[in-house]
Parts: sequence; C-alpha cells; structure tokens
Amino acid sequence: MKKFFILLLFLLYGVLSVYAIEEEGLEDIGIAKYAVIEAKADFSPVREAPDENAKRFLHLRKGFVVYADKEYKNFYRIDLGEDKYYWMEKKYADIQAIIPEKRIQKAEQIKISEDKKKYSIFIPLEIQNSYSFKEVPDGLEFYLYDTDAKNAEIKNKPHCFTFSYPKNNILKIKYITPALFGYEVFAHKKGLIVEIKKPPEINRKKPLKNIKIVLDPGHGGVDPGVYAPGIKEKDINLKVSKQIRNALKKRGAKVYMTRKKDKYISLYDRVHFAQEKQSDILLSIHQNSTPQKNQQKHGTGTYYYNNQALALASNIQKITTGETKLKDDGINRASFALTRPTYPVSVLVECVYLTNKEDVQKITNKKFQKSFSHALAKGVENYLRYLIVF
Ligand SMILES: [Zn+2]
Repeated sequence: MKKFFILLLFLLYGVLSVYAIEEEGLEDIGIAKYAVIEAKADFSPVREAPDENAKRFLHLRKGFVVYADKEYKNFYRIDLGEDKYYWMEKKYADIQAIIPEKRIQKAEQIKISEDKKKYSIFIPLEIQNSYSFKEVPDGLEFYLYDTDAKNAEIKNKPHCFTFSYPKNNILKIKYITPALFGYEVFAHKKGLIVEIKKPPEINRKKPLKNIKIVLDPGHGGVDPGVYAPGIKEKDINLKVSKQIRNALKKRGAKVYMTRKKDKYISLYDRVHFAQEKQSDILLSIHQNSTPQKNQQKHGTGTYYYNNQALALASNIQKITTGETKLKDDGINRASFALTRPTYPVSVLVECVYLTNKEDVQKITNKKFQKSFSHALAKGVENYLRYLIVF
C-alpha cells in the first residue's frame, strides 16, 4: 500500500510539474510584451516543449525572426500566432529588440517562377519571418507566420498550388504532388524564396541515368566513429562508399562524394555540399554499434526523417537485406543531421554492427562490400523506377 502511495505521489508530481511551467518559472520578457529574436545559426530548432529533447517543430535559418512573449529556464516561449506555443533554446537566439506588439508584415506581391528542375516562390518582406513545412499525403504545406498576405497579388500561380489563410497573419501555401522530391527556404535580400524541387526526369529502363547522388562516408579525420578490434568505422565507411559509388556509376548515376580520403568534415558542411551540387539524393553511409552487453545485435538498418524519404529508405532496406541475407534491422525514423535535410531527399544507412563479430567479418570482406553496394544501388534504382510523377 505504501508503495502505491509513493507511486501515486510520483505520478501526481509528474502531472503537476507539467502544469507548473504555466504557473511557476515563466517570466515576462521585459517591460513590453515581445522580444524580437533572430536565429543565431542555420537549422536553429524551435521545439514543441521547453526541453532540449522535445520534438522539433521547425528550423530557422540564420537571421530569420520569431517573437518570444515569455521565458522559462533556458528557453524562450515563441508565439507564432497558432493555438499553442513553441520553445526556442536561448543559445540559438539573438534578441534584437523589445517591443509592445509584433510587427506584422504585409506581403504585397508573391511571384512563382518555374523551370525544368524547380518551382521558386518569391515573397518580398523586409524581415525574414519564421516558417514551417508540413509533409501531407498529397503534397506539401508551407506556413509563413506574422505575415498578412490576404490581399497579396499572386503572379504566375500554377494549378498545383493553392493559397489560404488559416489564421490571422498566417499564410499557407499548398503544393499538390504525388512525389515530393526536396524543398527548402532561402533568404533573399528583399525577402525569402521557397524552392520546391521537381522530381528528376526518369528513364524507366535506366532509372539512375543522370541522377545526381551525393554519397557521404560518415566520420573521418579526428572523428573515427565507432571501433571494432583493429578497425575504425570511418575507414570502413570510406571503403564501402567507394564500392557504392562504383555500383551507382555503373547504373548511370552522377556521383559526388563528401570525402574521398580520411578527412574531417562537419555534419552541416556535408549537407551544404549536397545542396551546392544540386543533388537529387543524399546517402550517408555508416556502421552501427551497441553497448557491450548487447553484442548479439546485428544486421543492416536504414534511417530517414522526412516522409518524402521513406520510399527511398524502404527500397534500400528491402533489397539490401534480401540480397545479402543480413538481418533486417528495420526502417527507422530518426532525427540526425544527415536525415533531417528537406533538400535533397536524404537517407542514412547503417550497413552492419561493428560490435558483432560475424557482421565485422562480412563488411571487411571486399566481395561482400561489392554485393552489398550493388544491392544498395539496385534499391535506389527501384525507388526511382516506380516513382509516380505527373
Ligand atoms: Zn557513424
């Protein structure tokens, strides 16, 4: 009985401490109502709760602006004008000013342009306001906050776009497509540009022909990754990636590697490289590991974050496990720096577990590396072959 009461108290404490955020420790920003906050770095996360592990709701590019109305511990409470609040860690935030009201900007004119590879939506603004994307089954939704676009003139609107205003000072642009293939926002000196990539032209007989793929051998230089006796993950990643490059090239793909030797590259530089190359697909190659007590765990796993990458991840996982007889360690949704990019379509493969002896024997064998690489290339090829495009 006593145990039960302790448990009850514990649960009650948990519930109360959630409410406590609303009552205790939540402080006003200053004498006025809002703080104008600029993101300090690209990919600054705004989360769903004041906890550094809470789900990310949106990412801000450097210099983009949000408004905070309260602070709580090391977080600012962000008011996007939605029904709920969001949270940004203070370390990502640069306070620009304290103001009595949000500065709502008027978008007078929105222009959509299109070429063979992408749609570009130009929204003229003096301040780069915050935005979010939501992948939906029939396409993509883009939300722009603190902006009044109700009376904006929309130039060259193709049929696959709709504009609406779900709440005061929120603009929603919907792009309808059966196959999302990358999207991103860029700052422009007179506003911002939303870029939505069109799927590449696919030759159904030779689907990888002219498809641009960036291959990223994980780790390198001072960052060795995980260890197995006598081998480092960074070296295996590079060896396997070179075999994957050969297999993809053989099928007609244009392949670029983030590193061709043992060299340190930051995670974001790898993503930037893939974007600069205007690649269609980004594949990051890694080896997995588990804590000592769990060395039986083995097999191959594929990781994605954005739904647009799920079909690619599934095809890679299906063919690699099918053709190599490696254990199926699953298609997993995970928020990694190399799975989070919305452009290009990004997937991370953990080929095997370096903490498992049999897996190590396989992946250090050149013949096995080759067959794994061909299976992976075939997975990418099948994904493209059956991709539905307009
Ligand atoms: Zn790794």
